[in-house]
Amino acid sequence: MGSTDTEHRDPDCVFCKIVAGEIPSERVHEDERVIAFADLHPQAPVHVLVVPREHRRDVTELAADPALLAHTVQVAAQVAGARADGDFRLVFNTGESAGQTVFHVHAHVLAGGKLAEGEL
Ligand code: 5GP
Ligand code: ZN
Repeated sequence: MGSTDTEHRDPDCVFCKIVAGEIPSERVHEDERVIAFADLHPQAPVHVLVVPREHRRDVTELAADPALLAHTVQVAAQVAGARADGDFRLVFNTGESAGQTVFHVHAHVLAGGKLAEGEL
């Protein structure tokens, strides 16, 4: 493992452990920059999390790498196209009071039916 891998990993982070394969997940996509897996507590017929492999706290930190942010959105669209009709809601909870519970950035992809208005 190179120094870059260690710098971008938080030993206490559940999503770093999922990225490393130390905690099992139902992966639906993986490439060199992101993985996508089914949410443990789905809120929609399709509920997938797209997660950059590098540990970044939230979407504001992800936005420091515009190419990676764009790739995250493109993978979200791909997942919605492969597993539903292509329409999707993309949610980045950012900060505790906005409902963020895992502080490793993740895009919630919600799809597969008429989605309710309101919070995730
Ligand atoms: P947040 O509340 O931070 O926006 O979203 C965290 C999401 O991660 C929640 O929807 C929760 O169900 C999901 N989650 C938390 N731990 C795990 C896990 O170990 N495996 C999977 N697949 N999802 C998880
Ligand atoms: Zn992490």
